[in-house]
Amino acid sequence: MALTPLRAIAKHCFECGGRSYKERENCEHIECPLYPYRFGHRPKVQAKYTPIKAIQRFCMECVGEVGYKANYKERELCPNKKCYLYPFRLGKNPNFKKHRVVKESVIA
Ligand code: SF4
Ligand code: SF4
Repeated sequence: MALTPLRAIAKHCFECGGRSYKERENCEHIECPLYPYRFGHRPKVQAKYTPIKAIQRFCMECVGEVGYKANYKERELCPNKKCYLYPFRLGKNPNFKKHRVVKESVIA
């Protein structure tokens, strides 16, 4: 099963909380872009960012200052392919691309 942005966030937050569900639940970093999605589902109250945009934002923070131009490249070149957020770091969902390619090959 393909990793979705929400699942990736839940897994990342689980790791961030020292692989503890309790720590993830009790996370106090409400300013973290991933915070509203840390359980792997959408909150009842609409969050500031969509899950994919939250990841994009989080990755910018991970590589350095948000909005600092050079860091866009840093984020793109992130070497940590094992990070759950890696496939979504550029704000695009590669799962959709795969579906489109499959659909197109079926049509051809
Ligand atoms: S919301 Fe942010 S600080 Fe909190 S567990 Fe997730 S990644 Fe860590
Ligand atoms: S994918 Fe790279 S930039 Fe994004 S959180 Fe993971 S390690 Fe940081």
